[in-house]
Amino acid sequence: MEKLSDNAFRVLKERYLWKKGVGEDLETPEDMFRRVARHIAKAELKWGDSSEEKKWEETFFRIMSDLFFLPNSPTLMNAGLESAQLSACFVLPVNDSLSGIFDTLKLAALVHQKGGGTGFNFSELRPVGDSLGSQGGYASGPVSFIKLYDFATGQVKQGGKRRGANMGVLNVDHPDILEFIRLKVNGKALQNFNLSVGITDQFMEAVIANKNWGLIHPNSARVIKIIPARDIWENIVQGAWENGNPGLVFLDNIQASNPLAKMGKIWATNPCGEVPLMEYESCNLGSVNLARFVYQGKVDFKTLGKTVKEGIRFLDNVIEVNHYPNKKIERATLSNRKIGLGVMGWAEMLLQLHIPYDSQEAVDLGKEIMSFIQNESKEASHQLALERGSFPNWDKSIYHPAKPMRNATVNSIAPTGTISILANTSSSIEPLFALAFQRRRVLSGEPLDTEVHPLFAKAIAEGAFPQQEILEEVRATGQCGHIAALPYELRSVFKTALEIDPKWHLQHQIAFQQFTDNAVSKTVNLPSSASPEDIGRIYLEAWRHKAKGVTVFRNNAGNEQVIYQGIGR
Ligand code: UDP
Repeated sequence: MEKLSDNAFRVLKERYLWKKGVGEDLETPEDMFRRVARHIAKAELKWGDSSEEKKWEETFFRIMSDLFFLPNSPTLMNAGLESAQLSACFVLPVNDSLSGIFDTLKLAALVHQKGGGTGFNFSELRPVGDSLGSQGGYASGPVSFIKLYDFATGQVKQGGKRRGANMGVLNVDHPDILEFIRLKVNGKALQNFNLSVGITDQFMEAVIANKNWGLIHPNSARVIKIIPARDIWENIVQGAWENGNPGLVFLDNIQASNPLAKMGKIWATNPCGEVPLMEYESCNLGSVNLARFVYQGKVDFKTLGKTVKEGIRFLDNVIEVNHYPNKKIERATLSNRKIGLGVMGWAEMLLQLHIPYDSQEAVDLGKEIMSFIQNESKEASHQLALERGSFPNWDKSIYHPAKPMRNATVNSIAPTGTISILANTSSSIEPLFALAFQRRRVLSGEPLDTEVHPLFAKAIAEGAFPQQEILEEVRATGQCGHIAALPYELRSVFKTALEIDPKWHLQHQIAFQQFTDNAVSKTVNLPSSASPEDIGRIYLEAWRHKAKGVTVFRNNAGNEQVIYQGIGR
């Protein structure tokens, strides 16, 4: 078993490790990995005997405890419980009726309670002020119900361990769209929601051609107002400049790669955007730790490929042993069997290879790695289909009839906010956020020590530099780009998120998206000096390059994201 960092151990102790019994010690991290491996390997008994079960338990234990692969947090926290809810991502419908709205709110609370995050599209709701017909009175509109959902989420801690998270989408032709866009104007509002406007190609074309745009009543398809498309666009960009919200979800790009488009539309994503789902679907995630696959200065594709295949089997097993919040979610999930295997530690892989994040070489390697992972993932899902059968809706999918598949989707790039801390690596495909970190206690926020990134500390120790001075400077500023005593090569390899031009952030997102059937959760970081027009250009580029969504984060803009990029690095 790989030795865990102090910080990983601290996070595990505060939130993940179980008590062995009343008044007894906590389990060790090794016990935790064993508990998870055992639970997930139980699925093997459906097709094999107990020796198969034991064999896969050992494999799953090894890939987790060696920090090659980790599943999403709910799996680590809940595996082993009798009715363990193991998935991180859900999308729920919001119908235009009071009972529909409150039924979904109740279901969302149950999902949050067990550690899952929820996404909704509120566009079916009639606009504010609309007549309620026979009962009399006026509708409160989507924005007021989003506030209600937000308040309710705040009251339900996820298993007492973290806050619930939501994605709220409103389509760009909804009459209340401007109110929605301004909803987070005060950075403190709506703490438990990320907001995204549901964008169509038609809208983007109207913006580019500076045309008018119709706002449409969701129930009658009547155009009830016409405004210049650019008015909406400027409001979006201004909001994003002020507080990072709203992001965009590109509905046509999502639908174009929906493997089950025949079954209907995808209208929403999970809270961080990496999984577009149909109503009532859920998805479980896992990530391979790229930083662990560099051997003698090269990418170790052989071990990476093996781990990806084992990870896909792990995630497919999760669907078998999972406990679902209700029958509808169970049915939708078991029919399509979506899983999302992604990556973490990308920046640390590049560091070990001495490739700057802001370089074409890095983007090209990103494509090579993700296309390799995608091929291995699809092959693994195909093999599982031959062993276990295809997912029940396979005959309605793009894979029919040529390729039996066990899972309708196989890859997602999640933020890995917590699991990257457990694996002691950089999160997802993000660059390093800083070279020094003030550690804080998870729940109380109490400051702990300041730590310099170990790979930077190592590089400094190996060169003939004034070590103490450099480390002090990096502790104070978190960066090294301005330190003249360091060679150019070192300064470029160790550039942090805010020193990297936003265009490279986007290029990495697009490179990974090209080989990911679900989506990529990525924040395009901007310096505080960035203008609203800069954000407009990034949003437009993201659409042009077929991103499924886009989110920006301008430094010091007073913005607050629902999910922070980790308490660590
Ligand atoms: N998520 C959530 N609450 C949180 C963090 C995450 O519900 O506080 C869900 C959400 O759907 C998000 C997904 O988990 O998109 C994956 O997030 P991340 O990769 O950061 O989770 P981790 O497994 O590292 O905890």
